[in-house]
Amino acid sequence: MSSWEAYVRKVVPYVPGEQPKQKDIIKLNTNENPYPPAPGVEKVLRDFSADELRLYPDPEIRDLVDAIAEQKGLASNQVFVGVGSDDVLAMAFLTFFGSQKPVLFPDITYSFYDVWAELFRIPYEVQPLDENFSIVASDYCKANGGIVIPNPNAPTGVEEPDGVLEEIIRNNPDSIVIIDEAYVDFGAKSVLPLIDTYDNLLVVQTFSKSRSMAGSRIGFAMGNPKLIQYLNDCKYSFNSYTMDRLTILLGKAAVEDQAYFSEQVERIIDTREWTKKQLQELGFTMPDSKANFVFASHKRVDAKTIFEELKQRGIFVRYFNKPRIDNCLRITIGTNQEMEALVAALKEIINQ
Ligand code: PMP
Repeated sequence: MSSWEAYVRKVVPYVPGEQPKQKDIIKLNTNENPYPPAPGVEKVLRDFSADELRLYPDPEIRDLVDAIAEQKGLASNQVFVGVGSDDVLAMAFLTFFGSQKPVLFPDITYSFYDVWAELFRIPYEVQPLDENFSIVASDYCKANGGIVIPNPNAPTGVEEPDGVLEEIIRNNPDSIVIIDEAYVDFGAKSVLPLIDTYDNLLVVQTFSKSRSMAGSRIGFAMGNPKLIQYLNDCKYSFNSYTMDRLTILLGKAAVEDQAYFSEQVERIIDTREWTKKQLQELGFTMPDSKANFVFASHKRVDAKTIFEELKQRGIFVRYFNKPRIDNCLRITIGTNQEMEALVAALKEIINQ
């Protein structure tokens, strides 16, 4: 080992789901939305002039911040925009989790949290979910340097019962509680109304799932103006021009079409409910998902075998080779046609 290697910041990186090059596959492995973004987004793309790229973008991302604030009924100084919610969450870890006490999050959860904690040298402690994949509120009511909980959780899709998150937020006035609502639009209840009551609450959402814009990288956080100011101070100390000119316009067009948004979300929810029934009939069990995916395991055939068999048939789902969940498949909800093809393939695999 060369001597400089001792001073390298070493991390084991997060591994995102596969993005295969082939076009003729059914892609249900990264929780993308199968429907296109709002028509206004396409129009912005068509009308955009390359000449605009000569100039730096607005570092304050003002047009998009204002559009989100208006849609959510907030003041602009309650909204922070980043390049995907991964960027927002990373910035929030860096900004708010500076204590020597451990940050708390569930053992089964979004697998980026421990990576950011390692990257930023933040101590952390995972809290086991119960046998129904729900958090145990009392686990989050001990000394800590911050809390991050996704609701609904990933990769389980489970929504925490009403009131549990508020109890945790209320019991932790001395640390920041981040609720990651990447999937909240698919039928779960948001804690957003609580930001006026609790100054330690930061709510993070994304355009990647319910607004069909994973490729644009738009995420945002909402909280009281002091939290947003601290986030901005860190952002401007790291990279002031995070979002490009085109994406700011695309995001604004997406937020402004609320009717299209609701229609797409309803379609996904209908397909999810249909898919749950079909999978149950095939002998799968799964926690009740409120997200745009289900987390299923089969009573007879193991998840890894099903994962590989599906892949051979051109259907990509997500398999995590991790304790407690290594017999589960996370299956993103696609179009009705895609889910019909999935069910047909599963029938074949289960019965062979
Ligand atoms: N939070 C959770 C729980 C997620 O599953 C994801 C998607 N990988 C993200 C945040 C990040 O999404 P994005 O950066 O696309 O907004």
